[in-house]
Amino acid sequence: MAFSRLITSYTLAKDLLLRGTDNLVNCGDTMGYNRASQSLQARYSSENMLKIEPVAAFSDNYIWLLHDATGAWVVDPGDAAVVIEALETLSRPLLGILITHHHFDHTGGVEELIARYQPRVAGPANHAIKGIQTTLGKGDSVDVLGVRFDVLEVPGHTLDHIAYYAPDHQPEPLLFCGDTLFAGGCGRIFEGTATMMFASLQQLARLPANTRIYCAHEYTLANLDFAAAVEPEAQAIRQRIDRDRTRRAQGLPTVPSQLAEELQTNPFLRCDQPGVEAAAVSHARQALPDAEAVFAKIREWKNHF
Ligand SMILES: [Zn+2]
Repeated sequence: MAFSRLITSYTLAKDLLLRGTDNLVNCGDTMGYNRASQSLQARYSSENMLKIEPVAAFSDNYIWLLHDATGAWVVDPGDAAVVIEALETLSRPLLGILITHHHFDHTGGVEELIARYQPRVAGPANHAIKGIQTTLGKGDSVDVLGVRFDVLEVPGHTLDHIAYYAPDHQPEPLLFCGDTLFAGGCGRIFEGTATMMFASLQQLARLPANTRIYCAHEYTLANLDFAAAVEPEAQAIRQRIDRDRTRRAQGLPTVPSQLAEELQTNPFLRCDQPGVEAAAVSHARQALPDAEAVFAKIREWKNHF
């Protein structure tokens, strides 16, 4: 009885989103899909609890929209138009914006959203990003709809890159990590060094295994093709490819993922594993002294894969 009411509630929410915009078709579906399989009861136990929807932008970006009955926040709004459509569909005002790094596909909508909604805007201490009122770094935290997010500095993809981690969120911790850790992969190293990126990913790998990972792009299948090239014998990678191909064929996002499955299948978090090391050594045709050197080699390999 309780279960069928939850399903009905989900279906209504999905229909509402489907009517709003094509960009949201996946969004309502995905969150319903993932949460339905993981914690339907938890999601709908309180009308006012935090909900998280992906808003599709550009060709493969996800702008994450967090909302409860009082309003919404978005993470990395590269495009204002799709955020405005989503907010109007949900009938929520925009209360705040979080930014992970300066790239335009993560910040391009900020000024238009400020002009329309006057939200709080928090992000890294990078003056090149227009509109940030509160600059954040290691040790800072920010309250989003009653949930505390701690700021982690994760340089590598860019030098200013930060991530937002909610350790106390139930039923699992949340991580918004921009272009640092992807489902099945990691971001390119544009500004930092392999040493920086490796340390940043190691920092994320030490979070609780049930942490839910909200990255900013739908790159999963391409990432997993590479993961399978690095570890061709790995059953967990094959199974993840099958599952995520099915999701994409149904028009569903493959994210969020969970840290536990990244630790099992993401080569960039597995540089200390014998199979990944052997593949990197074989590709490099030279010995590699440690996991960081393995990481640098497979990151470079992926750039040309
Ligand atoms: Zn980026």
